[in-house]
Amino acid sequence: MSECPICTRPSHDDEHLCPYHQLALENLRDAFDVWADAMDLDWNSYLDYVYAVDGVGSWVREVIEHIKSENGSLE
Ligand SMILES: [Zn+2]
Repeated sequence: MSECPICTRPSHDDEHLCPYHQLALENLRDAFDVWADAMDLDWNSYLDYVYAVDGVGSWVREVIEHIKSENGSLE
């Protein structure tokens, strides 16, 4: 058992994030597949866009912050 790097809840051995943040990440990725085709956004631009949208859930925001901090491109 390991810990989610975002919230320190327990995560599964084979997964980096807890189930809550993992689900938010999967939703982000699923939506990106649609948006990338529709709007010609790359992954980082997409994350910036989603992060700026009003009403985005806190799970999703925390995942985006985590991704960007790991990439060293938090803006
Ligand atoms: Zn978490």
